[in-house]
Amino acid sequence: MKPVCVLGAGMTGLAAARELEAAGAPVRLFEREDVPGGVCGSLCQAGFTFDATGHLFHASRPETEAYLEDLGLWEKMVRHERRAAVWIDRHQTPYPIQINTWGLAPETRRDCLLGFIRAWAAGGGEPENFRQWVLDRFGEGLAKHFFFPYNEKLYRIGCEDLSLDWVGRYVPRPDLEEVVDGALGLHRGGAGYNAHFHYPREGGIRLLPDTMASRCRSLELGAEVRAIHLGQKWLELGSGERVEYSALILTNGLPWICDLLLDELPKEIAAARKALRWIRVLNVALGVEGEAPTDQHWLYFPDPELPFYRVGFPSNHGRLAPEGCHTVSIEVSMDPGSAEVEKEAPAAEAALADIGLLQPGRIRSRVIQVIDPAYVVYDHYRREALELLLPWLREHHLLPSGRWAEWKYSAMEDAIADGRKSASAVLELQGS
Ligand SMILES: Cc1cc2nc3c(=O)[nH]c(=O)nc-3n(C[C@H](O)[C@H](O)[C@H](O)COP(=O)(O)OP(=O)(O)OC[C@H]3O[C@@H](n4cnc5c(N)ncnc54)[C@H](O)[C@@H]3O)c2cc1C
Repeated sequence: MKPVCVLGAGMTGLAAARELEAAGAPVRLFEREDVPGGVCGSLCQAGFTFDATGHLFHASRPETEAYLEDLGLWEKMVRHERRAAVWIDRHQTPYPIQINTWGLAPETRRDCLLGFIRAWAAGGGEPENFRQWVLDRFGEGLAKHFFFPYNEKLYRIGCEDLSLDWVGRYVPRPDLEEVVDGALGLHRGGAGYNAHFHYPREGGIRLLPDTMASRCRSLELGAEVRAIHLGQKWLELGSGERVEYSALILTNGLPWICDLLLDELPKEIAAARKALRWIRVLNVALGVEGEAPTDQHWLYFPDPELPFYRVGFPSNHGRLAPEGCHTVSIEVSMDPGSAEVEKEAPAAEAALADIGLLQPGRIRSRVIQVIDPAYVVYDHYRREALELLLPWLREHHLLPSGRWAEWKYSAMEDAIADGRKSASAVLELQGS
């Protein structure tokens, strides 16, 4: 019997393969790297553990907790209440900024509050892009001081070029009372999808994929899928082996799925593939001597003068550094293909030192990573491109699954759900 094949042993592929194995289906899981986990991995160096930037687990579905419990992972995770802040003009105020402007400079706070009140009074229209949506919901002050510069730094395009397809879950909407209370410093607890999170007590985030992989008999490491023949339903590995599949679940990025296909792509499919946009993230991960300069888990930096959009202090939520040391993760957004790493990494460190959050002389360990792809850009072409690409691939018995293959913004919890859902879809099709 031909196996179900799964490309990629990140969280999505591991979840899919485990599900298929449990149902007794023949399955082969191919991972090109020598370790499982994909972007949910951790590197160890000189006693420090570094994730690919902050990787914090949000369990919003009841079945997620049960899934991790079954793997013996839940008891190894610690719950943390989020400590995150926004840094503007050397002032720091808790995140989300829209209900916490009290920590900002008085003029900035006034701008934000007045702008919000005016937008609230205007009642809002029918925004067609992220720029209008922000102005309608949050007003000019919050737009100018946070939402515009932060999102333009991260996504590297104007806010008018971003669609609204991603905002619902990730950008909390406050009411007027919350915003006024927030300007006066009257706290009411966390808001948003990440008000608390779970993280392994030790071992870094790779504890999750490592544990899943240890229960996965079908995993083959160092096995890169080099080509796929849609018509004849086989794939070719780097070793030259050809594997015929009954179904193929793919978890790599959608553009690269298209590039693996040996069959000629219809014109509109090739055009849709070209329209997909994303950004890379340069992660400068540092192990530093001494106490962390802040107890925050991470800080957001909208200021266009600073090269980074976010800086995390991961050892504030896990045992990731030797006694008396801490870890820092500096995140810089970069266009795909640009080769600026050698310039950007030292510039990011220097800028962090300049605002007093890093002592360069105390750096003991450094890992520089480029995460590519890192974030899908939700521009106005994305939806149209997906409406062509995803059904076309499914018609050809391929199942794109997870953050990159479905070309979306999603988290580790979603990866587990996506992988399991794809496995169920295959099993249903095959009548098991
Ligand atoms: C900067 C950043 C920060 C994030 N922070 C968080 C967070 O705090 N919390 C959270 O929940 N989520 C976070 N995420 C999202 C989370 O990492 C992803 O949702 C999840 O890890 C995606 O898993 P995946 O298996 O779909 O993809 P991946 O992890 O990318 O796995 C795909 C796998 O496919 C393999 N592969 C690719 N091509 C081939 C090939 N040709 N042959 C064989 N193997 C191949 C790759 O090596 C990789 O192992 C973050 C993501 C990024 C980029």
